[in-house]
Amino acid sequence: MCHAFLNDSRFYQVLFRIDQEIAVQVRAGGCPHCGGALHSACYPRKPRGIRGVLDQSYQSRLSFCCAEDGCRRRCTPVSVRFLGRKVYLGVVVVLISALEHGLSASRRRCLIETLEVPMQTLWHWRSWWRESFAASRCWQALRGRFVPPVAAEQLPGALLGRLSGVDLCQRVCQLLSLLAPLTSGSCSGSLRVGLDPQKM
Ligand SMILES: [Zn+2]
Repeated sequence: MCHAFLNDSRFYQVLFRIDQEIAVQVRAGGCPHCGGALHSACYPRKPRGIRGVLDQSYQSRLSFCCAEDGCRRRCTPVSVRFLGRKVYLGVVVVLISALEHGLSASRRRCLIETLEVPMQTLWHWRSWWRESFAASRCWQALRGRFVPPVAAEQLPGALLGRLSGVDLCQRVCQLLSLLAPLTSGSCSGSLRVGLDPQKM
């Protein structure tokens, strides 16, 4: 295995607990449109790659629906697990893209095979990072924190390298939390759950 934490079910449990904490906060705030109560209405998900270490919690994305008649609007909390509608988990999208230049050809091939990502998808992600992500409000809000600036054409690897985590696993978790605002259009608002490096 290329990166031990990718094969460690505890890593995915930590990410799930973060998503759960975010969801608890969102639910407590009520419907952002009418203030009504939010009822659980999870989306079924089937993440590709790394299925063997994922438990039942990865079969669904936490989401809510307003209980008020006449509203009933959907509210999906941001996530550190699911990067929008991408069928691969955020960690896969981050890691494979970030390590594009940082891995030997054989380790990179190993990672790509383990995670079952077709080459075409890799190319798609590459342009997603450099064009869609680079132009996103999320990145526009973040980029000023980094001095000297992180070049768009070096995303996400250069960004990962600027984070403070002591190892790759922690830095990936930090990056997933920075990306979280991208993961939901129905529940905006900042991610208020802190990442505790001790839990990683
Ligand atoms: Zn409502």
